[in-house]
Amino acid sequence: MKHVKGYIKRKSMLYVTGVEYGNYTMNHVQGCAHGCLYPCYAFMMKKRFGQVKSYEEWLSPYLVSNTLELLDREIPRLKDKIESVHLCFTTDPFMYEYDEIAAMSLAAIKKLNMAGIKCTVLTKGVLPSPLAGLSLENEYGITLVSLDEGFRKEIEPFSAPYDERIDALRNLHAMGCRTWAIPNA
Ligand code: SF4
Repeated sequence: MKHVKGYIKRKSMLYVTGVEYGNYTMNHVQGCAHGCLYPCYAFMMKKRFGQVKSYEEWLSPYLVSNTLELLDREIPRLKDKIESVHLCFTTDPFMYEYDEIAAMSLAAIKKLNMAGIKCTVLTKGVLPSPLAGLSLENEYGITLVSLDEGFRKEIEPFSAPYDERIDALRNLHAMGCRTWAIPNA
């Protein structure tokens, strides 16, 4: 298991997005230890706006410690406007071997589902099996640009090995969840 570098607090969590997966998104981690070298759009944006100074800093994730409190505050105000919430746009909700991040992502999805809000999830990590106990309206995806482990180690150096990613997705599918894989970053 790996540990987050530290904790930060944010003032808001749910925001409107133009991405195709949901009309709202949340990013409860700053940085992403997967360190993709496509390059990563999220890293480029954070660097441009001075929130992250270097690739090394990007690889050291900070968890937003007040994520659940923010959701408690924002869900009642926004729930009628939300069609679904996408996790995540500028980080990875199931960052490989970061159990603390996965636990926070699970708790956030559970909270959103309890308010009747569907979630979509996309990861280059491992989707945990407790997701199958949450709303069956949710959709779980992995990105898969290749099946060549040599390529992954070069381009997505710290992400989950492809077979682990696929096995976790297959497991959720077998438990009745909606799943999908996309062939781009
Ligand atoms: S998993 Fe996504 S957010 Fe993380 S480094 Fe790769 S492209 Fe960027």
